[in-house]
Amino acid sequence: MTQETNEILANLPLRNDLIGETPYGAPQLDVPVCLNVNENPYEPNPDVCATIARRVGEIAHTLNRYPDREHVALRQAFADYLAQESGAHLSVDQLWGANGSNEIMLQLFQAFGGPGRTALGCDPTYSMYPEYARDTFTGWKLAHRNADFTLDVDAAIEAIQEIKPSMVILTSPNNPTGTPLPTADLERILDVCEHADVSGAAEGVHPIVVVDEAYIEFRNPGTPSAVTLIDRYANLAVSRTMSKAFAFAGARVGYLAASKGIIDCVRIVRMPYHLSAITQAAALAAFEHTDEQLSRVAHLRDIREQTAVWLATQTYQGQPLEVAASESNFLLFGGHFDKRERIFDELLNRGILIRVVGPDGWLRVCMGTDDEMAQFREALTQVLRIVE
Ligand code: PMP
Repeated sequence: MTQETNEILANLPLRNDLIGETPYGAPQLDVPVCLNVNENPYEPNPDVCATIARRVGEIAHTLNRYPDREHVALRQAFADYLAQESGAHLSVDQLWGANGSNEIMLQLFQAFGGPGRTALGCDPTYSMYPEYARDTFTGWKLAHRNADFTLDVDAAIEAIQEIKPSMVILTSPNNPTGTPLPTADLERILDVCEHADVSGAAEGVHPIVVVDEAYIEFRNPGTPSAVTLIDRYANLAVSRTMSKAFAFAGARVGYLAASKGIIDCVRIVRMPYHLSAITQAAALAAFEHTDEQLSRVAHLRDIREQTAVWLATQTYQGQPLEVAASESNFLLFGGHFDKRERIFDELLNRGILIRVVGPDGWLRVCMGTDDEMAQFREALTQVLRIVE
């Protein structure tokens, strides 16, 4: 923020804990190759665009009325999608939608966090979690991951028993590392949480386990999604989004799959009519074209594998680059970049925007089209030569 804005803010009764804070977000720059926010690089095809325009047009005359607060048709579409994508058979009352999975996560924190409560994550992980915690006056604690970024399940269980969080946040695949969470590890944590205490809560109250599956469609084929465990675990909440594999980030649609009990808790804190009629119509229209929307996912997975192999053959200061094993649409790479900001800047000078995120020494790049990845490879080859 500029000095001028700071002076204006100084006269406003901003919450004490927000003084000095800045708005979250990666730079939105007008550059030729944007590989920084893990979007799907492929536009919806003209058929999908036409259906969206038609469906939004059909409801335009209803816009004097509030939308369906319970967005039942869309919740049914989420259920149908999960049956197709993950083989999970859930009912409308086990699903819930919101404006991006960011809003889903915030609603979970509003319902299950709060003053005196703590949420536990596993470091390194998605950098918005501490912001949801801050905004809901929830404590935020981290358990560590293994050196290869896999979950240290014993450390997580120890932290659950010591901290007694009300929410355990697991991210699969994890951002910014791309690391998947094996089902057996998730089940161990769910089993512990079914009996664990929550600090300050009545006896018999147990933590919920939130699995953030924003990137799950990019997992290697054959790996189950956590949504297949919902009928076995009443304390499991799975957050999903249409923003990534589904190529619908601009529409802002995320959803939650969980027991009816968890959904009912979230319904208490949601804003009335939080999902606009336009959003609901556009999302339903996109679900009429599920196969087209997902048609590039396998290709992006192949690009990820090829890019990981290529990155591992590159060197910086005589050492090969490290590449974190990823089941997502991005790769965390480097490991020993002592000048990662400079590498980022030099790539940007060449029109390539990636992300400085994650532990020191690493950078994250998201998978683009073939042409964008060719430009990335060419630029990085040059940059690694000059920054050394
Ligand atoms: N979870 C994770 C792990 C993410 O990386 C993101 C987006 N970067 C989100 C949730 C939020 O995505 P959206 O609000 O677009 O669904």
